[in-house]
Amino acid sequence: MYCKCGKEGFYFRRHSGEILCKKCFIRSIERTVFKTIKREKLFEPNDRIMVALSGGKDSLVLLHILNKIERKYGCELFAVTIDEGVSGYREEGINISKKITQSLGIEHHILTFKEHYGYTLEEICNIASSKGIKLLGCTFCGILRRRLINKAAIIFKATTVATGHNLDDEAQTILINLIRGDVSKMIRLGVKPIKQREGFIPRVKPLRYIPEKEIAVYAYLMGFPLYEKECPYVRASLRDEIRNILNDIENRHPGTKFSIVSAADKLSTLLKDHIGEVKYCIKCGNPSGKDICRTCEILSMIGINY
Ligand code: SF4
Ligand SMILES: [Zn+2]
Ligand SMILES: [Zn+2]
Repeated sequence: MYCKCGKEGFYFRRHSGEILCKKCFIRSIERTVFKTIKREKLFEPNDRIMVALSGGKDSLVLLHILNKIERKYGCELFAVTIDEGVSGYREEGINISKKITQSLGIEHHILTFKEHYGYTLEEICNIASSKGIKLLGCTFCGILRRRLINKAAIIFKATTVATGHNLDDEAQTILINLIRGDVSKMIRLGVKPIKQREGFIPRVKPLRYIPEKEIAVYAYLMGFPLYEKECPYVRASLRDEIRNILNDIENRHPGTKFSIVSAADKLSTLLKDHIGEVKYCIKCGNPSGKDICRTCEILSMIGINY
């Protein structure tokens, strides 16, 4: 089996039927990201792009590819890692992030939950369980991390935040929102925000059309370190169920994940004028879907003043 360039095949892309050698595989991933950036106008010249860098494969690949195009677009690139405070887990990601940013000569900052909220994620989860609050660690983590990423973007004067969400993440989130009946959230997903919200630095997802498996193969070919530790707060969730179902359908019907994301993109285009006005939290003033934002809601639940 040979690649179209004549070299020995290395990767079979089931959804397109292509056979690719290592070099053509790497090129095809980078080309897809470049095309997404160009087609969707994700960056403007002189943008100061902040990469949310966890040390996992998606954010490493994102940083690596954006670093290649930084000069081409006349943009500036820097990275921020959020330290939630989960001992024995986050240190590895922080070390990987430090190493890669040092080796690429990229400005890097680390922000911690402890500094910003006064408590680590572990402490927050302990307080919650002592009060009988049944929220999962991932719920606290996701909401508080999202807020801190926005804060970092403001502090370090980013004009855009780039995250490493891949095709699998996006297809899963679309189905989760559909199952929960949250159509508005579903159509607000997308490779870039449909509406600008004052106080919220826009987020873009240059890897949205790359399957997770191909990101893993790219990371392997680039020799990126593997972040092997598993977070102790990981629990079986709806996302896990959806991930398994989607992988199963994708195996039998290659291209399913692309179809789901592309259907959601079409719906967003059709319905973008029906998205409601942005509200602002009456407690903290940040953009919010409700009168009180989720960050204020969960922090007041556990008695933390924010
Ligand atoms: S698994 Fe959950 S708690 Fe752990 S880092 Fe990820 S989102 Fe946070
Ligand atoms: Zn080739
Ligand atoms: Zn708030």
